[in-house]
Amino acid sequence: MSVISLSKRVSNLHSSPIREVLAVANKPGMISFAGGLPSADSFPRMDILQMPRQMLQYGPSEGEPELRDLIATELQNIELDVKPENIIVLSGSQQGIDLVAKLFIDHGTRVALQSPSYLAALQAFRFYGMHAVALDPDAPEQALSGDGNHPALAYINPTFQNPTGHCWSTQQRLQFASLADKTGVAVFEDDPYRDLVYEQIDRTPVCAKLKKTSWIYQSSFSKNLAPGLRLGFLAASDDLVPYLLRLKQAADLHSSRVSQWLVLQELNKVSRAEQLHTLAAQYLLKRDHFQALLLEHFSDLAVWQVPTGGLFFWLKLNTTINTSELLASAISQNVAFMPGEPFFLDPQSGYSAIRLNFSHASADEATKGLSVLSALIRNNT
Ligand code: PMP
Repeated sequence: MSVISLSKRVSNLHSSPIREVLAVANKPGMISFAGGLPSADSFPRMDILQMPRQMLQYGPSEGEPELRDLIATELQNIELDVKPENIIVLSGSQQGIDLVAKLFIDHGTRVALQSPSYLAALQAFRFYGMHAVALDPDAPEQALSGDGNHPALAYINPTFQNPTGHCWSTQQRLQFASLADKTGVAVFEDDPYRDLVYEQIDRTPVCAKLKKTSWIYQSSFSKNLAPGLRLGFLAASDDLVPYLLRLKQAADLHSSRVSQWLVLQELNKVSRAEQLHTLAAQYLLKRDHFQALLLEHFSDLAVWQVPTGGLFFWLKLNTTINTSELLASAISQNVAFMPGEPFFLDPQSGYSAIRLNFSHASADEATKGLSVLSALIRNNT
């Protein structure tokens, strides 16, 4: 028998709890509050027949010029000082997380991030060997200054964070940016939810407030258009672009030109702004329905804040329950949710939190699923 010799890094690779949950969540009959799935009703009909055959040829690693121009203009409109040359089109913003991790993280590299944070970012950063430093947006100096031992990178998702749905205040954004400039910590801002906004709130990118330090800002077409296209983009400060472009080239040469062409058709529609408005209005209705159900079923079981944007409610249960075990019982009753545990740096602290996606389930499913889930929790306490 041959003995395979794998890289040391692979020992940091653990199976993704989200992948396991999503596998069962997609079974027929399952009511799923688990993944961050957009509502399938919102997907546009796309016509590929008009696509120039040229799009089937290899293309530029940085992405289609017309798409980069458009993205640069959109980012300028939200105060980011970028040119099209600062933009790299990604095969989903998950790829941005991987490229940035490759660029910054060696074994033991300090990375500042919130606990909880987006779990697939935690997984990718751990894979490359990060030493995580907990970041509190109310007191960022602790993580960023690090007693002379600055982190190399700070990963933030300040606008409708996954999993909590929280949005940093203007004050938090300014304070963080000025400290990042002072300490020279590079900032990686992940912003896939910004268009799913339900109330007037400051969403100015933190990167737009930076004056000196290096930065990467990324967003996605997954939540505001269609995740199956696997398309996102990053914008980076001039010093980082050449490195990221080489990493992108090495990873997959370029993102699908077919997807880029389809996205361009959508972005160029005169009705695009109206479509985004409609999408947010539909999700607002879903959020409000969900909130009414939570008040009905969970008032005595948990505390939560109504999210001002994004796709999630984050519930902290009043009693200590192992929510990973709760998930197994819920799944046996055809309801799936995301346990809080894998989002935390120290998994223990998440035991009694759950993340509920409100965009995917229909109104009837939400009514039934939340009733089942609350009864399960009540029986467990
Ligand atoms: N970042 C965050 C915070 C996310 O929630 C997600 C998707 N759930 C991603 C990145 C990756 O999204 P995609 O690759 O579909 O753009």
